[in-house]
Amino acid sequence: MKFGTKVIHAGIEPDPSTGAIMTPIYQTSTYVQAAPGDHKGYEYARTQNPTRTVLEKNLAALENGIDAICFASGLAAMDSVLKLLNPGDEVIATDDLYGGSYRIMTKVFGKYGIKFQFAGISDVSVMDALITPNTKMIWVETPTNPMLNIIDIEAVCDHVKGKGILVCVDNTFASPYLQNPLDLGADIVVHSATKYLGGHSDVIHGVVVTKNAEIAAQIRFLQNAVGAVPGPQDCFLILRGIKTLHIRVERACQNAEKIALFLQSHSKVSKVYYPGFSSHPGHEVAKKQMKMFGGMVSFDLVANNEESARKVLSGTHYFSLAESLGGVESLIGHPASMTHGSIPKEERLKVGLTDSLIRLSVGIEDVDDLIQDLEQALALV
Ligand SMILES: *Cc1c(COP(=O)(O)O)cnc(C)c1O
Repeated sequence: MKFGTKVIHAGIEPDPSTGAIMTPIYQTSTYVQAAPGDHKGYEYARTQNPTRTVLEKNLAALENGIDAICFASGLAAMDSVLKLLNPGDEVIATDDLYGGSYRIMTKVFGKYGIKFQFAGISDVSVMDALITPNTKMIWVETPTNPMLNIIDIEAVCDHVKGKGILVCVDNTFASPYLQNPLDLGADIVVHSATKYLGGHSDVIHGVVVTKNAEIAAQIRFLQNAVGAVPGPQDCFLILRGIKTLHIRVERACQNAEKIALFLQSHSKVSKVYYPGFSSHPGHEVAKKQMKMFGGMVSFDLVANNEESARKVLSGTHYFSLAESLGGVESLIGHPASMTHGSIPKEERLKVGLTDSLIRLSVGIEDVDDLIQDLEQALALV
């Protein structure tokens, strides 16, 4: 089944009891048993819910995994993956991470004796130098947030093959339409489904997908034991969002490319971070592992200060100033004070995340209007 058919059909059947073409929202906490232990596969809704089951089958198909396990948020999904580790284990992670990911690693799991190292692993020799016998996981985000660096997933997986190290890819920025890490050798994929999968900025949701039966069983155990499950209405919204994933992402990518070109030629813009440019250091890898170059664009201003950035951030009309990404509407953000506020300034500056850096999540509006909007906002600087 091709991707555009999977989003609509994979794992989705008309409701067996009524024929309803749309998956019903099973708003129930428990299920009646005919006799003790005699049930239809559903006992209690923390453990199983039919709306969630359909979504999990669909998501497993989109990432070419054997199982997908849904959570109440992307960070809840990540929490369960990190709980596969034991005290004393070490994790090597991309140094330009989603702020919440950095926070859960350092402030939550750091307390339980798990050691995290953050490095620019787009150069695999940098990663190699950090591997010790205690290294148990490589955590990859690509494209990275907000600098849009590209990590070669296949190269990372090849380097750690046979060493007992799991490779986990946070695929939120690419979405399964653009990139499928399990096909490139990764063991685990995590998504904040809040972003492109949901796509309409109306739900918080997360998922873990794997092609390894043992990992799937462990994550399912954690899903039930810890209990950070999504409600059925949220699962329905993600299922609904996914039906247009390929069309939305394709348009966002087309718009992002035009916007990146516009920004690059603008006199008030000093630098544009966009993997679609042939001058981008990760361009060749992006071409190899992604279908298109994504809907995210970051840029810095010639006037290298926060005050100027603030003028642009408050000056747009179609780009709304908000955290998050991946919705149909365009967003503009200030990573230094918003998504990456929890990362120390010295750490931020090391990767180029300055006080004047602006991040765009390009939506699917008419691109001419979006460019005009940025044009008038940049004129305020
Ligand atoms: C938003 C985001 C998360 C966290 O997901 P939530 O659904 O907000 O919990 C994790 N990783 C990336 C790359 C994100 O953008």
